[in-house]
Amino acid sequence: MTSIEWANLKAHELRALAATNAVVVVPVAAMEQHGPHLPVQVDSRLATEVSHRAARKAQGDRPTVVLPVIWAGLSEHHMPFGGTITLDYQTLLSVFRCIVDSLRRHGFTDVLILNGHGGNIDASKLIAQDLTLELEEMTVVAATYWLEAANLLGPLLEDQSNVLHAGEAETSMMLQLTPDLVDDRDLASHRTEADLGFLVAGEGSFRWRNLTAVTANGVLGDPSTATAAKGEQLLEAASDAISELITNPGTWAAAPDMRGEETGGEPFRP
Ligand SMILES: [Zn+2]
Repeated sequence: MTSIEWANLKAHELRALAATNAVVVVPVAAMEQHGPHLPVQVDSRLATEVSHRAARKAQGDRPTVVLPVIWAGLSEHHMPFGGTITLDYQTLLSVFRCIVDSLRRHGFTDVLILNGHGGNIDASKLIAQDLTLELEEMTVVAATYWLEAANLLGPLLEDQSNVLHAGEAETSMMLQLTPDLVDDRDLASHRTEADLGFLVAGEGSFRWRNLTAVTANGVLGDPSTATAAKGEQLLEAASDAISELITNPGTWAAAPDMRGEETGGEPFRP
């Protein structure tokens, strides 16, 4: 079986993948503080792992290849805790524009932005929209892995209903993948309230806030409930959901044009 990692392949192998209309996964995440117990690479490591597992699962149904992770994202709200590199939206959009246009020039048409960082959720949707409008023959889909897999992840967690920053889920997955990078000596002492309400104004309106408005140490939730076994289950569930997204033909189908011929006697089309 061919490698699913773009960086490991030769150019002619990638030309062959373009000829089979392979899906290209572009993981994007962050390099940012993850509390006193986790390394700053967490989101990038997890987005890479979920992408690789999903591509291996999907490959039998739909050829799939994964680019190296874009390791910096929109992390302004983590800057006060240190250790964080942040991009601005225009830069992230520009990076994606160049990558997706390169893929277009090589003959690929279907691109999955696989996001692994909360601060990129809205941006990755906007990037998918902007690049679809700019590069008309491309289909760009934006997925945040824990939102795509929410129904599968919730039942596996006890302290939280889905992935939260440096809490039960992320700590579990890192314990499974790179236990040497997790300081698990006193996880219970890092517990904080996992309250995302600090981003809400009024009944359902948004206001930007630094993460310092809700946590003293950069953690959301209770990492002491994490286990490596749980981490393996979470990674499998997340990659199942992303594999399903990749192999579902509906994900890549052209949108229908539901317009009739005219209204009020005036045609819609020239
Ligand atoms: Zn994270």
